[in-house]
Amino acid sequence: MISRRQFIQGGSLVAAGLLAGCGSSGGSTSTTDTSADASSYTLVNEGKLTCISNLFFPPFESMNESTGDPEGFDIDISKELAKHMGLEVNWLPSQDFDTLVPTIKQGGKADIAIAGMTITDARKAEVDMSDPYVDSNQSIVVKATSTDTQDTLNDSSKTIAVQGGTTGAEWAQENLPKATIKPLSTVIDAMNGVQSGLYDAVVCDLPVSKYQIKQSYSDLQVIEEIPTGEQYGIAISKDNPGLTAAVNAALAEMVSDGTMAAIETEWFGSQM
Ligand code: GLN
Repeated sequence: MISRRQFIQGGSLVAAGLLAGCGSSGGSTSTTDTSADASSYTLVNEGKLTCISNLFFPPFESMNESTGDPEGFDIDISKELAKHMGLEVNWLPSQDFDTLVPTIKQGGKADIAIAGMTITDARKAEVDMSDPYVDSNQSIVVKATSTDTQDTLNDSSKTIAVQGGTTGAEWAQENLPKATIKPLSTVIDAMNGVQSGLYDAVVCDLPVSKYQIKQSYSDLQVIEEIPTGEQYGIAISKDNPGLTAAVNAALAEMVSDGTMAAIETEWFGSQM
């Protein structure tokens, strides 16, 4: 279905275009299991779409400062998915990113993990991934005063902070092999560590670094945008193909009825 990868240019999201490609008129919207019946699936709590994520990945997911409730792009997506499926949304407490796929695979706790999660072959071997709903790339972030480049960071004297188990961590290991790669539990910890001088750089998803620098880290800068051409998908158990089909159908509806565009504008409209 996806004939070419669309990179984020200047940070604009192009998910709508990708999903629009599968449309709602053709009937089948699932690329993972076209035989699945979207009307038959199981839920861990009846009538509810139970969701898990790592809630330290703004603007995709974070916790509201006063209420502690989950908020963000993915949270809005989850609410609309539930609405389009005739369900209520139920968010569980934050957990480490690298535990999300194992939790979904094991089953019994949550129906979906929606976490700015890149669709990768390794993850697809463990769980089903929905159709893509966001395009993303990687970025290298350093202090605004730093003169480091990708080349100078690839050195045994440098420490690169990443979020454990992410595609950013993988990229850093492969492309900055001489540096020490420090896996942390959140991107926020990584950015705080660069801010305080503990680490030399962070490698993380570009939409997140751009948003965070704009919102809260004016003393950091992106020195490199890395066109990895990633796409985010929603993780669902392989035992529940009907749910993947239903989620894909709802995503396609959200593109055609304008919901997706409205959520993009809400979180990225004038920010990125
Ligand atoms: N998109 C990256 C990945 O899937 C990072 C996701 C995240 O940190 N929430 O690995």
